[in-house]
Amino acid sequence: MISKESKIYIAGHRGMVGSAIWRQLSEKGYTRLIGLKSNELDLRNQAAVAEFFKVNKPEVVIDAAAKVGGILANNTYPYQFLMENMQIQNNLIDAAHNNDVEKFIFLGSSCIYPKLAPQPLKEEYLLTDSLEPTNEWYALAKITGVKACEAIRKQFGKDYVSLMPTNLYGTHDNFDLNTSHVLPAMIRKFHDAKMNGNSPVTVWGSGTPMREFLYVDDMAASVIFALENTLPEHLYNVGTGTDLSIKELAEMIQKIVGHTGNIIWDQEKPDGTPRKLMDVSKMHELGWKHTTNLEEGITRTYQWFLDNISNFK
Ligand code: GDP
Repeated sequence: MISKESKIYIAGHRGMVGSAIWRQLSEKGYTRLIGLKSNELDLRNQAAVAEFFKVNKPEVVIDAAAKVGGILANNTYPYQFLMENMQIQNNLIDAAHNNDVEKFIFLGSSCIYPKLAPQPLKEEYLLTDSLEPTNEWYALAKITGVKACEAIRKQFGKDYVSLMPTNLYGTHDNFDLNTSHVLPAMIRKFHDAKMNGNSPVTVWGSGTPMREFLYVDDMAASVIFALENTLPEHLYNVGTGTDLSIKELAEMIQKIVGHTGNIIWDQEKPDGTPRKLMDVSKMHELGWKHTTNLEEGITRTYQWFLDNISNFK
């Protein structure tokens, strides 16, 4: 049974998602949260992870640790995206299994679904066709994580569940233009251009791909929902159920930031998958729904960016 006294280990607690989960759990009165920095525990090191579990005996594990990045980073470092993600999750899942962790929540991403799957993406479309080549390395790793949790559930009847969020954004996001996802990248680009006399902003691709975005605090709320309830199946999509084009996103961010210059589309950069809208009806039926709309979420994220601007290179 999960209680406010359960020992909960949040892997990746300093990242955007992990830190939002930590904040919400603390606010809700969970008192025994465990988190280690990457220099204290290297999750790629199997022996170190096994030892950590033996000594600390967490009852619940939330796996928000991963090597993540936008379309360019994924395309540039395929080996690291595949191998490091498999190492991290294998070490965590196997150590959890060996140490009788009663609940494991595995986080992945909507890119696990085939590139040309029907939209919106249902959980059952997993492994029905080929992946999007720009992020198949990360996707393959995450698929094996989903399957590992499903296998433990099937073979040992444990409550190991996978949540697949759509594109996430929010406070503590990555604003480094080489590795970031589109939303924080655009906030930064439009802000910098505004400060530079409203110079033109160059964004990537054709602007036609469609994307869905979920504010990180809504994602954290879905994780807490999965923590406090026993979900009947092994895999759930988490998103808003609505999407917009990258061009519409650019215009929305431009307006919120207050940039008045031109937008240039660099067609040499990849578009990625044409559309990846989540079907979130399963989570809705169970009782979880997001509460932050996109404009509100971008406004909050921009404010956070401004408050922390001195920390960015
Ligand atoms: P994806 O959702 O896995 O494809 O990853 P991204 O968030 O990196 O990119 C989403 C879409 O936004 C792609 O079509 C990109 O080409 C487009 N995009 C436009 N401008 C940018 C930018 O400045 N950075 C990033 N990362 N993507 C951009």
